[in-house]
Amino acid sequence: MIALEPIGVVRSEIGEGQPMPPLGVPAVVEIFPRFLDGLHRIQKHSHIWVLAWLDSAERDLLQVKPRGLKEAGDEGLHGVFAVRSPARPNPVGLTATRVLEIERLSIHVERLDFRDGTPVVDVKPYFVSRDMIFAASNVQIGKPLTPEAAREALVLQAVHFHGELCDDLDRAVNVMVRFREEVLRWTDPAGWAVTVPADRPCLADAFMGMLRVSPGRRNLVFGTPGKISFQQGADRYTYDI
Ligand SMILES: [Zn+2]
Repeated sequence: MIALEPIGVVRSEIGEGQPMPPLGVPAVVEIFPRFLDGLHRIQKHSHIWVLAWLDSAERDLLQVKPRGLKEAGDEGLHGVFAVRSPARPNPVGLTATRVLEIERLSIHVERLDFRDGTPVVDVKPYFVSRDMIFAASNVQIGKPLTPEAAREALVLQAVHFHGELCDDLDRAVNVMVRFREEVLRWTDPAGWAVTVPADRPCLADAFMGMLRVSPGRRNLVFGTPGKISFQQGADRYTYDI
């Protein structure tokens, strides 16, 4: 038997039974007073991992169809260890988030996908040296339910790389949404290379974040002004920017 003692609780505008946006909402992690000393020097880190205990999750399922995806039928079925679904034998939730402010026992964070009152079992720093694996890849779990949800996820990935949302980042996201919708029909974008104008470095950062392409792997190429193009083999799709 393993005993876990909560070290705090999530405070969120999303309560029990309310729908949670896939990427979460701003929230506060309230640490219980007896754990105050454990927060010493946490200000050294811009981002933290929050581990929560998802009390109400089902614990006897080993395969699920993740929420928020279009896949129906067997195609949507995944083992619980292959997805982030709350349903799993030990319902530990794990989310990385940016710290906005720390007030004594309250850690204000940019977004968390845990509902109000969720017990927190641990907080750890997000280490860029160990946790950020830029060359990691995932095969898409399923098609997003709406283009808006997909756009929001792409903005987040671009901002995670670039550090802020600027005009060219926003333009790059719009082109990516069009390409994925019109050409890929929201199938997996792996294997596509992208060419961006050499004079617009923010566009390059956006695609490095959204597609994990890089000049070193030769799937991010610098080209002519005013054009973004995607290429795979003989296929090429070009957008004006
Ligand atoms: Zn920029």
